[in-house]
Amino acid sequence: MDSPNPGYDMDPMGHEQLLARNSGLLQLLPSLAEGLFLTETPYNALLKHLEQESSNAFNLEVQELRKKVVALTDGGTNVAESKEGLIQIDEDKNIVLGLTFGTTFLEAMAIIAEEHECIQVDVRGKPEVKDKQELEGLIQEYLKTLKVPRELQKCFLKFTVNQRIASNGQKRRRTQMKEMDNTEKLVFTKELNDLEIRQMLYKVGLSYNNEGSLIRAGDIALDTDDSYKKFTEPRIQQLREKLVPNATTTEHHMVDLRNWYCDCNEYQECYGHDEGRILDVESLLASYSGPNPVMNLFTECPSRILDPVPICCHLLTIVIIACNGGVLGKRWRLV
Ligand SMILES: [Zn+2]
Repeated sequence: MDSPNPGYDMDPMGHEQLLARNSGLLQLLPSLAEGLFLTETPYNALLKHLEQESSNAFNLEVQELRKKVVALTDGGTNVAESKEGLIQIDEDKNIVLGLTFGTTFLEAMAIIAEEHECIQVDVRGKPEVKDKQELEGLIQEYLKTLKVPRELQKCFLKFTVNQRIASNGQKRRRTQMKEMDNTEKLVFTKELNDLEIRQMLYKVGLSYNNEGSLIRAGDIALDTDDSYKKFTEPRIQQLREKLVPNATTTEHHMVDLRNWYCDCNEYQECYGHDEGRILDVESLLASYSGPNPVMNLFTECPSRILDPVPICCHLLTIVIIACNGGVLGKRWRLV
């Protein structure tokens, strides 16, 4: 639809109704997206993983391994940890966001997990900067505050979000597996689980010796060990690829963040709902209390906005990354 609903003035929307329609996006999302990703020490991540594995399958082997890890590290007080923290997801926030945004949120999380630099930024026009480094700094600032820096006010920033999909057109899911023999699937899954545990042990300075016993590896150069980089990491990557759907293709979706627009079907379909109304930004924001990064974005939006506000996994990806820049780091590149 391209004009306001003619019945709007005669049947004004109640305060509560307006709150309910967009509160997920304007209030819940910014408060929960921040801190959705946490950095966990490799030791804590390993113990959590072993606890989960042993309780899931009542796996005695894993329970034994957990006991050995605790003993070898004096209960976690004597750990030669890799400096690399591991990124974990806050499960409570994850659940609430999943319930609020459904598959849109799951797809956004898949995009973030799939590719490190999942966003490309193309700056059109003449930014008021002296070099590329300054430009990158300003984009990073924009992606943190969602407020366009003064130097970029006259530019058009085109964001492209990459999304991998299976070749049959379905969105890629980690639970989908290639058509392969069941025995083969089990063998690969077991090898992957073992290597992932080995990788986690390695990051806390533990390793198997030639006799297959778990030992303290001492002060090995955790982040530079050649055999680890040459064998374990590539093999894990190879197995993960084997266990996901056949061929995948990458879709590229164009996002105009300032106008809260995306070219994907999910976004376009929001305009097909009969109850949609077009609002100016002040009316849209009047019922909400800010500031927060998502409200910053709408405050600066030059267009009128459909209510309920359209949303898609690509816009959500950018907002989630913006709210977690400190942990996720730079997830975009300039083109
Ligand atoms: Zn989209």
